[in-house]
Parts: sequence; C-alpha cells; structure tokens
Amino acid sequence: MTRIIDGKAIARKIREELRGEVQRLGEKGLVPGLAVVLVGDDPASAVYVRNKGKACAEAGIRSFQHTLSAKTTQKELLSLISRLNNDPSVHGILVQMPLPDHLDGHAVVEAISPEKDVDGFHPFNVGRLAIGRPTFEPCTPAGVMRLLDTTGASLAGKDAVVVGRSNIVGKPMALMLLQKNATVTVCHSKTRNLPEKVASADIVVASIGKPGFVKGDWIKPGAIVIDVGINRTEKGLTGDVEFETASKKASWITPVPGGVGPMTIAMLLSNTVEAARRKGTA
Ligand code: NDP
Repeated sequence: MTRIIDGKAIARKIREELRGEVQRLGEKGLVPGLAVVLVGDDPASAVYVRNKGKACAEAGIRSFQHTLSAKTTQKELLSLISRLNNDPSVHGILVQMPLPDHLDGHAVVEAISPEKDVDGFHPFNVGRLAIGRPTFEPCTPAGVMRLLDTTGASLAGKDAVVVGRSNIVGKPMALMLLQKNATVTVCHSKTRNLPEKVASADIVVASIGKPGFVKGDWIKPGAIVIDVGINRTEKGLTGDVEFETASKKASWITPVPGGVGPMTIAMLLSNTVEAARRKGTA
C-alpha cells in the first residue's frame, strides 16, 4: 500500500517546535533574526521572499527584508552583505537567487559570513558537508532527509538514485544520503539508461525541473519516491514524477504541492534558530 508523505503536516510540526525554541531563546534575551535580500523584480522570487517573511513572523523570528533595484551594482550588494555580516541582530543571511545577470552570485554567496549562511551554500559549509561534518545543511535536501526519517526506513545499504546534480539540491542530497550509508547514484542530463537506473533504486529523489519526467513504470515496487520538482503548468503546480502511476508502485511518495516545498522553509527557519543559538552560546 502506498503512503503519502505529508510534508505540509511535518513542516507545520517542525515550525511549532521552533516557535517554542524561539520563545525559550527570547526569555534569555535572544531573538533570532533573518535578513532576506531580494534584487530586482522577479515575481516568483518576490513570492518566495514574502513567504519566508511570513514564516519567520509566525515562528517569532525577526525578519529584515532588503529589496534592491534590478540595477544594483555588485559593489552595492557586497556592501550590504558586509553590513549584515556585522549586524549582531542578524543571525542568518539569505540572498534570493537567481540574481540579475550582471551580478556574480558565487561572489555574493562567498561574501556571506559562513556562520550566517543559513542556506548552506557557502563553500566553507559545502566543504564541511562533503567531509561529513555539516554545519548548515542546504534547506531542500535537509528537508528531504527529515521526510525520509518519518517513513521509519533505514537508509543504510539502500540504493538511492538522485536525478539532478544542482548545487542547491542534487549534489548536497547525494552527500546527505551517503552520510546515512546509502549507496548513491547521481544522474543528470548526460546519464545513459536513466529508466534502468531509477528502476534499480530503493529511494528515488527527483530534482530535474521537468513536469512528470520520471515515469511510474520506472519505479521499483516498494521504492520511496521523493519529488523535489516544482513546475508551473496549465494544470497548476506539478512535480517531476508522474504521480498517478508512480504512487501505484511506491511504498511512500511525496505529493506536489505539499511534499518537499513546505520543508524547505521549515529548514531555513531551523537553520536560523540554530545560528542564533550558536551565537548565544559563543
Ligand atoms: P537545475 O535546473 O539547477 O538542475 C536540474 C538538474 O536536472 C540538472 O542537474 C540537469 O542535468 C538535470 N536534468 C535536466 N534534464 C535532464 C534529463 N533529461 N535527464 C536527467 N537529468 C536531467 O534545477 P534545481 O535543482 O534548482 O531544481 C530542480 C527542480 O526542483 C525544479 O523544478 C525546482 O523548481 C525544484 N526545486 C524545488 C525546491 C523545493 O523547495 N521543493 C527547491 C529547489 C528547487 P545537467 O546538470 O546535466 O544539466
């Protein structure tokens, strides 16, 4: 029987727990703060930033939103990051990607202090993750790990196939699964015989950005299927996995929406609270 992994409910529970933790920190005079920087007027990015601000407010986290014009120069953006790095009320800094083309996103991420890099994208934090000593883990794959946890399945020795190798999802996802002793295969656009590879997996994580790309008949009976994809189609939001057919084969599967998406914000809040806690005990 297939069971649906209810990311929305799991994320809600995490956010409630965080609210309690924020209250406890508040009693010690510490209010976690997250600075979110948005450059330009991409409507999807504006929605993400608004949702992050709302989620912070609900958890009792102070949020500082910096909305900059699309014409902002690299120097101006780096100067804002530097101010935020030095601001003791800011524990986490997030720069909403993608940035306008004239800005160098890598340089911007590298300018964020690693102790405030709650997205987990700074090379220092990526390196710590790679050597198995994570500090801030990237939010989306960290959310996937929490979802896998709730199934109660042990990952040790399982075959995991990650489709997609982006720096924000696929690569850190593979490292986290490896850390839990899964045997990990990372697939991408040049991978040969993708259906066969997916069919060998006990755990499939799809992060491609193509609606319904992973077909149900590729899925091994009893596999756990995690769909990271968020695709806007005429039918509304859909994932990278053909849900109808895959859900007949999987033991557990995430829906889109309501699967991985809500977990990403919950993990961002969790990293921000952790950043504040570390400062408080430093
Ligand atoms: P990217 O575009 O950065 O990466 C997509 C990956 O898919 C690439 O590694 C690419 O391979 C691979 N790919 C593309 N076509 C194929 C193919 N035909 N066969 C196999 N692999 C292929 O995307 P992201 O990782 O940023 O995002 C992926 C999806 O996840 C998107 O839908 C995005 O909206 C969603 N997302 C959801 C989040 C959430 O919170 N739920 C958070 C972040 C992303 P190659 O490297 O060779 O080009």
